Amino acid sequence: MVDGSGALPVSVDLAIVGAGPQSLTLVTHLLQKKRSMESRFVVLDPAGNWLRQWQEQFAAYGIPHLRSPAVHHPDPNPHALRAFAASRSQELFPPYDLPGTQLFEDFCQDVIERWNLQRRVIPALVQHIELFDQKGRQRFRLGLADGRELTARRVVLAIAGGDPHLPPWARSLPLTYPPDRLRHSHQVDLRGSRFTGERVLIVGSGLTSGHLALGAIAQGAEVILMARRQFYEKLFDADPGWLGPKYLKGFHGEPDWENRWQMIQSARNGGSLTHAILTQLRRLERQGKLSFYEQCEVQTAAWHEKGWNVTCAQRGTHGDGHDCIAHLPIDRIWLATGGTINVNHWPLLSDVRDRYPLPIIKGLPILDHHLRWPGCELFIMGGAAALHIGPVARNLFGAKLASDRIVQALIKDSPG
Ligand SMILES: Cc1cc2nc3c(=O)[nH]c(=O)nc-3n(C[C@H](O)[C@H](O)[C@H](O)COP(=O)(O)OP(=O)(O)OC[C@H]3O[C@@H](n4cnc5c(N)ncnc54)[C@H](O)[C@@H]3O)c2cc1C
Repeated sequence: MVDGSGALPVSVDLAIVGAGPQSLTLVTHLLQKKRSMESRFVVLDPAGNWLRQWQEQFAAYGIPHLRSPAVHHPDPNPHALRAFAASRSQELFPPYDLPGTQLFEDFCQDVIERWNLQRRVIPALVQHIELFDQKGRQRFRLGLADGRELTARRVVLAIAGGDPHLPPWARSLPLTYPPDRLRHSHQVDLRGSRFTGERVLIVGSGLTSGHLALGAIAQGAEVILMARRQFYEKLFDADPGWLGPKYLKGFHGEPDWENRWQMIQSARNGGSLTHAILTQLRRLERQGKLSFYEQCEVQTAAWHEKGWNVTCAQRGTHGDGHDCIAHLPIDRIWLATGGTINVNHWPLLSDVRDRYPLPIIKGLPILDHHLRWPGCELFIMGGAAALHIGPVARNLFGAKLASDRIVQALIKDSPG
């Protein structure tokens, strides 16, 4: 029995690791189907609160609104956000009512209160998960960073779990530069920074590089945006056909897992910018505050006392007639190069992997229909479930698709 006081019980029916949007979506969908589960689960996250990571990401990049439309959110009722926004319609942005950041946060707070989840997150970092036998029944032992332990009958991992992707030149750099001068995007925080007179090189073609470029320029920097591809615009990061049967039917009908992985890559097609962001960036380009270096990649970067000296693989001139970057002093480099998920690298899975070895395709596990690791009652949601959910697995809508599958198994297999 879990009392919602924030205290750690000795044992529990269901332990959910992570308190991000995926986890919140799972919990509301679970309670909608079976209210009595209320007293049988805990959520564990070092933040001790819901959605900390999400809020930090939006605040650190100064993102004004979501990329996904108002029907995508953690509540089971798709219209709930629109109803919540009835008196705040100016916070729904065109073209498809994209919720403003504050509106979305307030709505999520409302979801948390409506479902009585305020005190359901226990501040805890789960460090290892072991399977053991308790009177003939399989159980999980979750070891927490502070030495405490928790026994659970079932576990859901909603930990996102991506490793930042670093290009090879960045991985092999000698550590002679000040650490704040080369950052992966997840380490960049624009709040309270000033970059007056500085030149920032941002690598990557996705929306994160666009947000970072706008933020850096607003704080006084001149920006070079570099990508191996042409910058291009797309409304959502995957075509809306991936939210329903239009594409998912063919995806689920594809028996070859490598082909499915390939379908996910093609659907996402690397990073893209939205029309609104690309328009703002083009305007800044005309004002001389930003240069696009397209079909171009860094070959070498060397730190010289005060700045970077960067050479790119494509010498000579670039698409727009830019010279090679080598003669330009660069003050900072930010890598908006995304992340990759490989569950072989997840320490939390080491015992489960050893006991129940599973085919892993390019880092992604082949789970059962309910996103359960075959052989035990451990479920995975988020980007790691992409071979089943498709290219939107890590997004808000992916959380809904995953919850529908996981909840079916959780309620079927629970008393009361
Ligand atoms: C800048 C940005 C904007 C985005 N905008 C949108 C959008 O508009 N629409 C959309 O659909 N998607 C968007 N996404 C994609 C996606 O929805 C978010 O990344 C979302 O935060 C993913 O939710 P999550 O719950 O999987 O991960 P997270 O929000 O990262 O939450 C995972 C949680 O797990 C916890 N955790 C990890 N390891 C452990 C452990 N060992 N023990 C305990 N807890 C642990 C972490 O502390 C964290 O709180 C965006 C992503 C980014 C980066």
